[in-house]
Amino acid sequence: MKAVVSLNSGSSSIKFSLFVVDPAGTLQLSAGGKIEKIGIAPTLAARSADGSMVLERDWPDGASLSHADLLADLFAWAADHPLEGREIIAIGHRVVHGGPDFAAPLLVDDALIDKLEALCPLAPLHQPHNLAAIRAIARLRPGLPQVACFDTAFHHDKPALASRFALPRALHDQGIRRYGFHGLSYEYVARRLAQIDPELAAGRVIAAHLGNGASLCAMQAGQSIDTTMGFTALDGLMMGTRCGGLDPGVVLHLLTQMGMTTAQVEDLLYRKSGLLGVSGLSSDMRTLSASTTAPAEEAIALFAWRAGREAGALASSLGGLDGIVFTAGIGENDAGMRSRICNSLKWLGLEIDEIANAGNGPLISLPDSLIKVYVIPTDEERMIALHTLQILSEKLA
Ligand code: ADP
Repeated sequence: MKAVVSLNSGSSSIKFSLFVVDPAGTLQLSAGGKIEKIGIAPTLAARSADGSMVLERDWPDGASLSHADLLADLFAWAADHPLEGREIIAIGHRVVHGGPDFAAPLLVDDALIDKLEALCPLAPLHQPHNLAAIRAIARLRPGLPQVACFDTAFHHDKPALASRFALPRALHDQGIRRYGFHGLSYEYVARRLAQIDPELAAGRVIAAHLGNGASLCAMQAGQSIDTTMGFTALDGLMMGTRCGGLDPGVVLHLLTQMGMTTAQVEDLLYRKSGLLGVSGLSSDMRTLSASTTAPAEEAIALFAWRAGREAGALASSLGGLDGIVFTAGIGENDAGMRSRICNSLKWLGLEIDEIANAGNGPLISLPDSLIKVYVIPTDEERMIALHTLQILSEKLA
């Protein structure tokens, strides 16, 4: 049986899923897992679709192991354990930045890798690791088709105004514009919403991807028309360790008055800010929720306040609002955060159903609410596999 692997390679983790292509051509999840704590003491756990553990490993002294080393180990394991007759026909990758040119998934070749490499400064937390995985697999399995799926692609056709900064035109033409991210997640959520509530999906919806990275997307009939992230995945909402939208004057001040180097500013904005920076405790919402300290509570309150404020802005971009969909780690699991954000949008006529909210929905608004609210788990890995299969069938056609 043919199978497709999707890989989501981040700074300290690699998520992977194996999907079998069934005779009807649809994708069935066969197994999935995660290599975590890369650079510290990597661990690997993979489970089959029924939840049973199929592989567990750890490298207690593996601080020096790279993404490529760990993928080589995973491939060596797969080679020793024939995948019960499953033949991997392609690997799909999440690639965070597609720049101005790439509006759809693409088959990887050397020229594409070079172009994507040039975009690394725009997504320093993600893009180098996405490309490391692509290169590692090209070495391990030369000839195996690889497909790059871009997080920016879903937003590519948003209205021109939503792409433009108020900067001189020449900079826009050089690619300094608002791209938007989390596109694979939003595309999946848009498809699921069209199945669950087609009438709402045809209207004005804000999707809220609230995980370690967090953003909102304004969707009109399932198409992105505005989003909170911009040129990089640093803009918009407060995140686990990223600051979100910030007066650019702060950056100038840090550089010119406080003597920070650009590397220190990058580290501050990407890795030391957000929930971690404000709480002084953790970037993890569960840890903050369990804490009783005032800075932890302020970090949670600020996260909610910023999300509500940005949702108001996107409601304006949409010219009104029919629905909100929460997704990703916080959006799917944190009823308290959903409640805070929804209550900040009461002025729009949104009435949350706290009982349904505590039960994770999917519909968590009251029947007479003017805005419907759903919780829809995202599945970026499946979206990557769907694109990969599509590109492959176009190639073979
Ligand atoms: P990533 O962007 O790394 O994929 P996730 O979508 O997994 O991130 O989201 C991670 C965030 O979700 C963390 O802040 C984590 O604390 C939060 N989270 C996960 N489960 C829960 C939960 N049950 N309650 C509150 N927050 C949760």
